[in-house]
Amino acid sequence: MAGILQDKVALITGGASGIGRATAVAMAREGARVAVSDLSKDGLEATVAMINAQGGQSIAIAGDVTAEADVANMVARTISAFGRIDCAFNNAGVAPRSVGPAGQRTHELSQSSVATMLSVNLMGVFLCLKHEIGHMLARGGGGAIVNTSSIAGLIGLATSAHYVAAKHGVIGLTKSAAIEYAQDGIRVNCINPGYIQTPMTKETMEARFDEIMAKVPMRRLGIPQEIAEAVVWMCSEKASFMTGASHVVDGGYSAA
Ligand code: NAP
Repeated sequence: MAGILQDKVALITGGASGIGRATAVAMAREGARVAVSDLSKDGLEATVAMINAQGGQSIAIAGDVTAEADVANMVARTISAFGRIDCAFNNAGVAPRSVGPAGQRTHELSQSSVATMLSVNLMGVFLCLKHEIGHMLARGGGGAIVNTSSIAGLIGLATSAHYVAAKHGVIGLTKSAAIEYAQDGIRVNCINPGYIQTPMTKETMEARFDEIMAKVPMRRLGIPQEIAEAVVWMCSEKASFMTGASHVVDGGYSAA
């Protein structure tokens, strides 16, 4: 039986690890040819090897989502390898502890850590949208894009003001683009994961697992595959009336 992304071409950022890798593998399983991008070359090659081992087609494109030339190159190389882009998952991101000391309240954050956070988690999504949509319009419209926000895009979180601001911003970009391109057949949505077991959350979970799990009705971390399945569906024709939406997958965190 054909997969729900049969004959589609997908571009994924942050695909060397965690949620991006799981989504690349799931998209390939559903029949998509997948261009996987990330900063990390080694992790990228491992994702591509996983996809090729299951009989899929995939290429690795190293690049930094904060550099417009790199983003333009990701789009151009995907088109040159596979002919087009139908689906995009703009997912690369960093956690607060990657851009400065952990545990800082708003008045303690440095301008440079806030700038780095916004550059990767918000500007990076903007640059990807800009170049992906430019291509989709140039080939006559149609496409589905999912941006990675977070439950932090919907609520405040102490000691994460810059992360929260960036993830709220991703929802704003998503809604605006959804309105602008609806008549071009381009759907733009975002996924809002709760706490997921990836390298990004490893240190936080080592330090605060019990405290955080007390707030999750399911009392466990999600796994990357549980986000991937939702993203695959959102990129597929099965989600044909969904645009401008924020889709929460969080074990009940934001319902509590
Ligand atoms: P992850 O395993 O750390 O994956 C993120 C990937 O993005 C890494 O491979 C990272 O590369 C890459 N990346 C970072 N900066 C980049 C840049 N400038 N250009 C290109 N790639 C870059 O984390 P994850 O948990 O899968 O996170 C994926 C997305 O989900 C992020 O946007 C994150 O904010 C979001 N999210 C995660 C959770 C969670 O609980 N895990 C919850 C809500 C939302 P390096 O490792 O080389 O830096």
